[in-house]
Amino acid sequence: MARIGFVGLGRMGAHMARNLLKAGHEVVVFDIVPAAVDAVVASGGKAAFSSAAAAQDADVVITMLPAGEQVRDAWLGQGGLAKASRADALLMDCSTIDVATARDVAAAAGRPFLDAPVSGGVGGAEAGTLTFMVGGEADAVERARPILGAMGKTIVHCGPAGAGQVAKLCNNMMLAATMAVTSEAFVMAERLGLPAQALYDVCSKSTAMSWALNNSCPVPGPVPTSAANRDFAPGFTAALMRKDLGLAQQAAKDAGVDAKVGALALALFDRFVESGGGGKDFSGIITMIREGKAS
Ligand code: NAD
Repeated sequence: MARIGFVGLGRMGAHMARNLLKAGHEVVVFDIVPAAVDAVVASGGKAAFSSAAAAQDADVVITMLPAGEQVRDAWLGQGGLAKASRADALLMDCSTIDVATARDVAAAAGRPFLDAPVSGGVGGAEAGTLTFMVGGEADAVERARPILGAMGKTIVHCGPAGAGQVAKLCNNMMLAATMAVTSEAFVMAERLGLPAQALYDVCSKSTAMSWALNNSCPVPGPVPTSAANRDFAPGFTAALMRKDLGLAQQAAKDAGVDAKVGALALALFDRFVESGGGGKDFSGIITMIREGKAS
């Protein structure tokens, strides 16, 4: 069993650390919020007094932090994790961050480093069914598989450093745009007298089928588990979707890609979040469209 340093015990990280404990690993944890540390210590984790202390003597060091700024600082800043870790330690960041920072941190770490963002949300983190999209060297990915396997079900090696973040941002850009246009279609059907169930029955089995429609249908009824049945309690929040769409636009710009549909999706989610929808499930975008407030 490995000794694992885990930094960032928020909505995702706390569950992920607990699943590593359940798998029998020794997990040394740190978060800038002491209560977050206490909660995982109550499940068997060991408290560290700083992120560097969590990395000391660890076989594997993992971060799950809000954004690129915190990730860069945690790994490369004063008392950073990279220098504090053993020379043979395996390092990975599971946060969703910008591609450039992921590549910079991997290049500067001086040890095998993986970007391994996730999809599956808080529910997947708790159940240990996350999907990991991994960027980095193949041998480091093989070393990481048993560790990632304790927190998730699907592990895809996407390519070199940063490739995991690229996959994550492409996925969420497609998902957001699909959800927005699916919502427009349901509102259009409502106004034109087509029952939502009929639209679902046709499209969920025809060429418009998608995860957004088939698993997260934005109207109540057709998919009993979708957030629309519980007043859009998340799920995956609109605020996080907006964050990921912003990162996707940055990546598209850096790559010289004119991603217009992605830009429109970002503008829609910006508006939804600014109007108070940030804490709702991202499928709640349909309420803004129904109210005619999309532009
Ligand atoms: P969160 O805000 O709940 O947790 C982040 C944690 O990091 C907090 O406990 C915070 O105190 C801690 N932290 C911040 N700076 C720190 C530092 N310098 N040192 C130590 N701890 C620090 O966020 P989350 O929902 O757990 O998401 C984490 C990452 O996963 C984000 O990048 C997010 O985009 C991504 N993600 C989230 C979801 C989701 O559904 N919540 C799904 C997929 C991916």
